[in-house]
Amino acid sequence: MSSLAVEHKAINLGQGFPDFPMNEQLVELVSKSMRNGNNQYVHMCGLPALRESIAAKCNRLYQANINPDTEITITPGGTYALYTAFTAILQPGDEVILFEPAYDSYIPNITINGGIPVPVSLNATDYCINWETVKAKVNNKTRAIIINSPHNPTGAVLSEYDIEQLRSIVTGTNIIIISDEVYEHLIFDDKPHLSMLKYPDLQERSFVCFSFGKTYHCTGWKLGYCMAPEPMMKEFRKVHQFNCFTCNSPVQYALAAFLKDEQQYLQLGKQIQKKRDYFAENMKQTKFTAIPSYGSYFQLYSYKDISDEPEYDFAVRLTKEAGVATIPVSSFYMKPENNQVIRFCFAKKEATLEEAINRLVKFG
Ligand code: PMP
Repeated sequence: MSSLAVEHKAINLGQGFPDFPMNEQLVELVSKSMRNGNNQYVHMCGLPALRESIAAKCNRLYQANINPDTEITITPGGTYALYTAFTAILQPGDEVILFEPAYDSYIPNITINGGIPVPVSLNATDYCINWETVKAKVNNKTRAIIINSPHNPTGAVLSEYDIEQLRSIVTGTNIIIISDEVYEHLIFDDKPHLSMLKYPDLQERSFVCFSFGKTYHCTGWKLGYCMAPEPMMKEFRKVHQFNCFTCNSPVQYALAAFLKDEQQYLQLGKQIQKKRDYFAENMKQTKFTAIPSYGSYFQLYSYKDISDEPEYDFAVRLTKEAGVATIPVSSFYMKPENNQVIRFCFAKKEATLEEAINRLVKFG
């Protein structure tokens, strides 16, 4: 959809990246770090000072007790962290339960490791998890469950009820949780982020994956990290050592310092919520119907009142005729479902959102 957006000079509300500038202070810290000569390999598991800053942050936010030496590895982004976690645990024939619509890397990550993806569709009105369906899919081949909160593409977030249900399924089994928490700070309406790190009984069986790209609006930097208990992290590092070995060093030095300023990430939810609200308010002028978003960069909209075309055809036509690129939600399913819903990324400057909405009003 991004290539199509470029071809048709469309506003790209498809791909999840901000078009507003990132924090100048962080850019300055990276430049300084390079000028100070921090340009050589750092420790395979990540710069120790950065791992210490991350552990301090997570221990404070989630009352966790993470050991920075043995339980954190810095990775080139969240996607790589997820891939490495799957590769560390999967044997051919292992089953992995995932929720659809799902971030597009999960299924290829499972199948390339010989695993079998077991998709469970989220309820297409509010995108909640039907735990009875999950329970029916669990068997002795279930190796892992992957969860993602706040959720891409729907903006749904897990509740305490979901945590209870997850707990009731995994307790007493060897099931591992892979928790994709890259939107940890992009959460709205004062909802708390229910990280796996908050629950010792769940944390002890979880790989928890994060992305600095999402937290600091620098998706192109591709830096993230994974946390897991020591025995699981040992396996993770065996894969990491011969795949990536070590990540970009100047950025790690800069982030080790920048992460100490908690306001930078604590105010993020409110900042992005303003964009969600601005977008939602102005979209009322169109015939699209909003599906609530509680987190992430995204909001889904139904176009049932505009057309009955399949999602892919509609999204292509919207790009070409209205000049606004979006993502058909059907592309987040193994077997595409057509619910006449597309995904918009609202993490954009107000001027970008305003122009996109003007175009959508004319189109509708
Ligand atoms: N998980 C989800 C749900 C995402 O949306 C993304 C980014 N699009 C990632 C992981 C990966 O983040 P990164 O760019 O750090 O690889």
